[in-house]
Amino acid sequence: MAEPILTVENLVKRYDDTTVLDGLSFQVYQGEVIVIVGPSGCGKSTLLRCINALEPIQGGEIRLRGELVSAESKNLSALRQKIGMVFQSYDLFPHMTVLDNILLAPTKVQKRPKAEVTAEAQALLARVGLSEKADQYPRQLSGGQKQRVAIVRALCMHPEILLFDEVTAALDPEMVREVLEVILNLAEQGRTMLIVTHEMQFARAIADRVMFLDGGNFVESGPPDTFFTAPQTLRAKQFLQTFTFERKG
Ligand code: ADP
Repeated sequence: MAEPILTVENLVKRYDDTTVLDGLSFQVYQGEVIVIVGPSGCGKSTLLRCINALEPIQGGEIRLRGELVSAESKNLSALRQKIGMVFQSYDLFPHMTVLDNILLAPTKVQKRPKAEVTAEAQALLARVGLSEKADQYPRQLSGGQKQRVAIVRALCMHPEILLFDEVTAALDPEMVREVLEVILNLAEQGRTMLIVTHEMQFARAIADRVMFLDGGNFVESGPPDTFFTAPQTLRAKQFLQTFTFERKG
């Protein structure tokens, strides 16, 4: 099998005396879509932040195509550019237009020609149905539109892997679908993605592999149909039951 794009080996993450991630390991291969699920507070978001070296880790290592990703890495900035991250809270600069938000990192950090990035940004905005919004400001957009801009901004960096952290959690229900559809499209294009979500239908539809995180480590991991219809562990069963209950309520 080909080399993995991302390798996480025995990752340990603590906040003071609390161990959030307790020696977890996994790999992500080219074109794979992995969905991480688990109860609130189990460390999903922390894991994504560790992968981007936004959090110091206390043990283990994270490698992107074999290169160590850590706060001490000399080439951390270059490595981070290869890891596209989309958060729940868009993080667009309010005083910049949509287009300028997207152009900022590719032109300033990657030093790519503005005309080239502009053409790419406009093509990507068109793909997510936002051609008309390039010259508007974030405040003029809905939450779903802002999140689609944030996805375009990440794509314009040409990342090797995209990390999505609960990107629909802050959206009104009618906007959730437009964002999930964009991510489903990215999966169809063969993008490599690591997705944290509470949208279980979406998880089942998009995942090649679902990994269930609880108690500091992955409790089970497998194809979505198996996980959702025949979870192997009591903890996964309980998690899925709670979720169904919450959804009905
Ligand atoms: P999830 O994304 O699965 O809901 P998080 O990764 O946000 O979980 O949090 C995992 C645990 O780490 C929680 O118990 C949370 O309170 C704790 N935690 C997260 N960030 C910090 C921080 N900056 N300082 C201390 N504890 C934190």
